[in-house]
Amino acid sequence: MATYTPMIQQYLKIKADYQDAFLFFRLGDFYEMFFQDAVKASQELEITLTSRDGGGEERIPMCGVPYHSAPNYIEQLITKGYKVAICEQTEDPKQAKGVVRREVVQLITPGTVMDGKGIQEKENNYIASITEFDSQFGLALSDLTTGENLVAYCSSFDDLLNEIYSVGAKEIVILSDFQENWKKQLIDRCQATLSYQKESSISEQFSSLVEEINDERLVTTFGRLLSYLERTQKRSLDHLQKLKVYYLHDAMKIDLFSKRNLELTETIRSKGKKGSLLWLLDETKTAMGGRLLKQWVDKPLVDKVKIEKRLSMVETLMEHFFERENLRQLLKEVYDLERLAGRVAFGNVNARDLIQLKKSLQQVPAIESLCQSLQSETFSVERLDSCEDLTNLLERSIIENPPLSVKEGNIINDGYNDQLDQYRDASRNGKTWIAQLEQQERQKTGIKSLKIGYNKVFGYYIEVTRANLHLLEEGMYERKQTLSNAERFITPALKEKESLILEAEEKIVELEYQLFVEIREKIKQYIPRLQGLAKRLSELDVLQCFATVSENRHYCKPAFSLYNELFIKNGRHPVVEKVMDTQEYVANDCYFNNERHMLLITGPNMSGKSTYMRQIALTSILAQIGCYVPASEAVLPIFDQIFTRIGAADDLISGQSTFMVEMLEAKNAIAHATSQSLILFDEIGRGTSTYDGMALAQAIIEHIHEKIGAKTLFSTHYHELTVLEEQLQSLKNIHVKAIEENGKVVFLHKIEEGAADKSYGIHVAELAELPKSLIVRAKEILKDLEKDSKGTSSVTSKKSERVKEESFIDSQLSLFPDHGQQPSTKVPTLSKKEQNVVDQLKSMNLLEMTPLDAINALYQLQKKVK
Ligand code: ADP
Ligand code: MG
Repeated sequence: MATYTPMIQQYLKIKADYQDAFLFFRLGDFYEMFFQDAVKASQELEITLTSRDGGGEERIPMCGVPYHSAPNYIEQLITKGYKVAICEQTEDPKQAKGVVRREVVQLITPGTVMDGKGIQEKENNYIASITEFDSQFGLALSDLTTGENLVAYCSSFDDLLNEIYSVGAKEIVILSDFQENWKKQLIDRCQATLSYQKESSISEQFSSLVEEINDERLVTTFGRLLSYLERTQKRSLDHLQKLKVYYLHDAMKIDLFSKRNLELTETIRSKGKKGSLLWLLDETKTAMGGRLLKQWVDKPLVDKVKIEKRLSMVETLMEHFFERENLRQLLKEVYDLERLAGRVAFGNVNARDLIQLKKSLQQVPAIESLCQSLQSETFSVERLDSCEDLTNLLERSIIENPPLSVKEGNIINDGYNDQLDQYRDASRNGKTWIAQLEQQERQKTGIKSLKIGYNKVFGYYIEVTRANLHLLEEGMYERKQTLSNAERFITPALKEKESLILEAEEKIVELEYQLFVEIREKIKQYIPRLQGLAKRLSELDVLQCFATVSENRHYCKPAFSLYNELFIKNGRHPVVEKVMDTQEYVANDCYFNNERHMLLITGPNMSGKSTYMRQIALTSILAQIGCYVPASEAVLPIFDQIFTRIGAADDLISGQSTFMVEMLEAKNAIAHATSQSLILFDEIGRGTSTYDGMALAQAIIEHIHEKIGAKTLFSTHYHELTVLEEQLQSLKNIHVKAIEENGKVVFLHKIEEGAADKSYGIHVAELAELPKSLIVRAKEILKDLEKDSKGTSSVTSKKSERVKEESFIDSQLSLFPDHGQQPSTKVPTLSKKEQNVVDQLKSMNLLEMTPLDAINALYQLQKKVK
């Protein structure tokens, strides 16, 4: 059997250690991939697959990318969740005996990228690690771009999943024997890449990061993450910050479904930031502030003292418009100090970054004095460290408009370094000499067009046009190059100066780079101070952001109730209000106390039930992150948790929801809610048949009412449930008012006490322009149904043992009996054609259809009976 060539053997040996990554194997000016890597990469990156002879029996699949365009390809693979191992030649090929030595110098993974498209300015890029301890979980998080390190306990797998989802970790480091079904959930729910690392001890170099933490388990959890970072990055991680312990119970708990439903940081449909609460709020001026804002929105506080501290800072900034505007202007000039610190440690900053750093630091004294002027009992900011000596160093050393490259000179100021000044003198003098020489030669020869130029191949030369050649003195000039209408010459004196100039320039470039590296090393000493400064500035930025939004949108400062009451006057949905430009948003009140902790909302479709429910939740979240709220007055409880569940029918658009998911989420709320929680159940029970759905809805309401006592908003299209008000002491009916004008429904979006008198389903159908004949027919049927059901109670009393099925009539027009039971009412006889359509309708599984399928099917059915 033929054996592979030495190079392929080397490749296979290295690849063995990086099975789960694409190995970018450096060969001259290319990174090459072989075997399966090549086949897969050629598909993912749409590059040509070729093959080469590797000494084996068959040719080896191969593809490659030029090294200078590699970053783009690497980014594509990382964005898709892959890892890339960069394998470089680690000795000069000219010196090599045999195969050039090669080593992997970095493993780039979704959780460890430092730049490129995957990195959003205003989002953290976390990598996580998990360690299980007796069904509890240690969770460590690290953002390599900012150096932030966090660790926490999660007491259940659900909590862990929620937390990883909400911080958006893209990669998770675990032990290889982590339970399979957990792995699956991490991949499915969090779309994370999994990585494995056994080692978890902390090396000497990093022991200071954990010196204040006594809990061995948390240290182990972080240790696993740190060893993974060391193993993969193989470079300086000097910017890593001290490990910080945090506690899940310090934040309001909102599970991942509820976060999605409330559209806190992204919308359900587009999954983008636009249209989310975060989008509405983002008036931050710095990238660091943007990231902190997202963290705050993700974790509303539950500690009243902390909340009120933020609120009073916001209040001070509200009251000082000019200072606030000034602060905004100053912050605008502040660069991303956290990420800059990371790049300094990694060694990939350039001189332009340093100019940005200088400009940022130059803003600090003004920001500091502005804070001093606001300093009071309600507004206190720790002193800002302006790192004056660093500013000074940067002012002296770096040129104002340096080039992108740090290896081509032109980055260090005159006067910063004597040696550099001397070289520059030499170079400048030489150039002056050349300019003088040009003058002299012109005079001597009388050729006005004579000029001295420079190019990389011939160096300095004297150029004379063909017509003037006869004016040159014989034997003084050596011909070097002939152009179409001119000749180029050199002279010994010119060459002598040239070598002086070039030597000086070479030295300048070398020395400038050396000085730049020295400066960069000096900045490393400042990393912890810059990180501290970044933290203060980002907090100020978020607070000014809250003040700005609150003022622009006329929000009010919330107060917190001592009696667990909720009172909102003229409340609005912050995002819907913002996007409705022409129409006026109708403000609504809301009131809860211990005797009135459940509100059952009825009202026609599209009247504003869902909007109203969400606005209560968003108002509470805004208050608990320390922002003012969209209302004219608000007294709120401090909620420990918020649950939201949208009925399957409303969720059809996303195509993901099934009745099972709806029930799982309801279970989640029921299992965890307390009397301090807020529950929003929006048309729950809708995803199943009428009787089923209504029975479930009622049982859920009773359970929350009796056993939990959470503040609950329950919207329903089961009109029959409104009689529960008579049986359940703390449940009250409210409704969204609609009126009929000329037989048509008009939504007022106004919440009122009591139950809606009708459900207007047919009117909405009319608005949607269903055929007139169909509407007329529906009205007839409804009339019959109503006539037949008169006098029967529509809801089972809690005490009644037997369910009177005939009493359930869905007033939203139940055309067909469920489960093949005979309806108690007589549906007028249908023609054969109609019956056929009805049968087909019955057999359709709506929850399995896309909205478009449903429309098409409806259209076909309608055509048959029209
Ligand atoms: P429902 O849940 O009752 O079907 P939605 O809450 O989805 O209704 O609201 C439907 C639409 O009505 C919203 O998209 C919004 O444009 C509008 N709307 C809701 N509430 C208000 C309000 N208070 N003022 C003005 N428009 C509103
Ligand atoms: Mg709704």
